[in-house]
This record gives sequence, C-alpha cells and structure tokens, in this order.
Amino acid sequence: MSHSVDTAAVVAAITETLGRPQAFIPLHEPQFVGNEWNYVKDCLDTGWVSSVGKYVDRFEADVAEFCGVKHAVAVVNGTAALHVSLLLCDVQPGDEVLAPALTFIATANAIQYCHAVPHLVDVEETTLGLSPSALDAYLAEIVEVKDGSCWNRQTGRRIAAVIPMHTFGCPVDMDAMLAVAEKYCFAVVEDAAESLGSYYKGTHTGNFGRVAAMSFNGNKIMTTGGGGMVLTNDSALAKRAKHMTTTAKVPHRWEFAHDMVGFNYRMPNINAALGCAQLERVSQSVTEKRALFAVYQVAFAKIDGVSLFAEPENCKSNYWLNALLLDAPDLTVRDAILAATNDAGLMTRPAWSLMHHMAPYQDCPRMDLSVSENLLQRLINIPSSPQLLDGSHA
Ligand SMILES: *Cc1c(COP(=O)(O)O)cnc(C)c1O
Repeated sequence: MSHSVDTAAVVAAITETLGRPQAFIPLHEPQFVGNEWNYVKDCLDTGWVSSVGKYVDRFEADVAEFCGVKHAVAVVNGTAALHVSLLLCDVQPGDEVLAPALTFIATANAIQYCHAVPHLVDVEETTLGLSPSALDAYLAEIVEVKDGSCWNRQTGRRIAAVIPMHTFGCPVDMDAMLAVAEKYCFAVVEDAAESLGSYYKGTHTGNFGRVAAMSFNGNKIMTTGGGGMVLTNDSALAKRAKHMTTTAKVPHRWEFAHDMVGFNYRMPNINAALGCAQLERVSQSVTEKRALFAVYQVAFAKIDGVSLFAEPENCKSNYWLNALLLDAPDLTVRDAILAATNDAGLMTRPAWSLMHHMAPYQDCPRMDLSVSENLLQRLINIPSSPQLLDGSHA
C-alpha cells in the first residue's frame, strides 16, 4: 500500500529537532527550577505539611487568577476533581453522562464512581475532542427533552451531563458544545486535566462548563506530585465543593460533626507548596511547548504520509503533548514508527485505548465512533517536555 512512511526519517526529524540532550527522551518530564525547594522546605520547617496551611489557600487563589475563574478548590488528584464535579452537577445513580471514547480512563471512571453510566461520544479531527455536531445529530435521534431534563428513549435513563475533554491541551469547540448542552438540557463538566494554559477564543479552558476539573499529576504541564483542582464561577458550588472534599465537617472548635458522607479529597499543604512554585513558571512552560511545536512542525512538513496535529483557529493550545497523525489509518505503519522511535531512545506512544475497547466499559451505550477508531490508528504522541529545546538549536 502507498501508506508507507519513512520511519528512519521520523526518527531523524525528532532527533534533529531535539539534539541529543540525553540517551532516553521521555514523553514529558517535570521541571523543578523555580521556588519548589524554598516552598517545600518552608512546609517542613514550619511543620505545616498536611491538611492545613497557607499554601493550599494561596495555590487555590493563584490558579483561579491564572485561569480567570472565580473559584478553585484544590483536591488530591484530577480523578477526584472529576468525581466531585459530577456530584456538584447532581449526577445521580442510574443517570447517563456523555463522554468521549478517546480519553484517559479517569474520565469514564469518575462517571462510574457516581454509579452513573458513561455514554460514549465520537470526537472530531480538528480538535481531537468531542464533536458537538455529531453529538447533536445523534441526540436528535435518541433523546426526548421533558420537564427540563434529557431522557434517553432507548435506555429510559436521564442524561445528566456531558464531559468535553481538551485533548493534549487542544480546546474543544466550546461554543458549539454549549449550544448542544443548552438545547438538550444537561450540565457541562469540562475535563481540563490537560489544558492548563490553553485558551478558547481568548478565555482560559475551565470557564465554560458549570464546573471543570484539572490535574497536576507528575506528567501534566505542571505538577504537585499528585493533585487536582475543581474550578467554577458559581460561588455556591465552590462552597459545596470545599465542604464535600473536606469530609463535610461542620466548622466547630472541637466537635466532630459531619452533615453528609463527604470525601477526604483535600490537597495536602506540601503538595500545594510545590504547586505554587510550579505555577509561577507555567507561562514559560507553555511558551516553550509552543516553540517546540513550531520546530517539530517544520521538521515533519518534509516527511510524506504524516503531519503534526495543530490547534484550530481561535484556539491557543498549551501543546501539552504533540501528536503526529498518519495521513491514512494503518496500524502496521503506526506500530513500525512506535518501534523505531522507542528503539532509538525516543519515547513515543499511541493514543489511549478507546473506552469501549476496555473490559470495564465494553458494554457502554455509544454512538458511531468511527472518527475515534480512525484516529486511534493514526495518532502517535512524541516527546514534548518544555525543556527539550534547551541545548539543541534553540
Ligand atoms: C490526567 C488525566 C485525568 C486524571 O488526573 P489524575 O490527576 O491523574 O487523577 C483525567 N482526565 C484526563 C483526560 C487526564 O489526562
């Protein structure tokens, strides 16, 4: 077949872009070159390492300011942030929640933690995120809006929410997404785990849904070791998020009284200290990531059969992970490139397994997922650490 791609040229394009800073080049590596030591040491020196301390409040305020969102509530990880976000949107046991088939499994897991059912939606090639137009056409066939709620006529279940996920930092088409959610009367929860520093039409991701979830896992654009954040512009929801994630304890000087089954999801102070330092440099990281994208784009323009995924108009991606796309779906070619690059010490990997390809979610309700299936056979993530251009030809 004429799909073949020169795998040696792909290896050369990456190596020429990066130089050879080290023998093995991971997909994404954290960088600790700012105030991390100072702030973490301060936690140890003062003894404030755990559930109380000034860095949690500061980190929440700093993230809210950076994202231009009214409220941010720090939690233990991005999955917990998603779980709480869905509960804040009143997702009930037995409800369905729409989510992309192409995502990290945490998106679907958070739905399952609510005893709700993930209902899988296809993505679009322009953003790699959920396709509002395909979803609209699909829902027109299968749902009924009644008394301000959306009902799946095939399963009899309520569709309570949708989770657009900003894939590799590229924003979903949120205007169209919000229009669909309004038309069919369900809540929008953004999975902004990968999109700190990404903007849709000039507004930071995480501002569009009723609630949004962010992750600061070790592989994300900035890290707190492990951590997450619930974002919202709704003050009542923010208050509830704080309450739910701090064991629902009623404030009192000595009583232990809790008014609901809450969660111990609060971010420890020592992790927040790391976060404060990381956030001080996140704009710099985004600038470096975008510079790396631009150099890669030139390098791959010369190679037949592949191109580098680029943000659509009106969007600014953080380019958390760069993605190569084969012109044609071909697992043999994809796997040959994965083998050649990894053999050469360049870490690459395919997209996540699609949700319905994995045991826990194989029986989920779903629409036609042909774009997701197609992209799975074409997509390869390549090394994307912000510091990679240092010391090469930068
Ligand atoms: C990383 C990630 C999460 C989960 O975040 P954790 O902090 O690892 O729990 C959720 N969704 C997506 C899309 C992610 O990439």
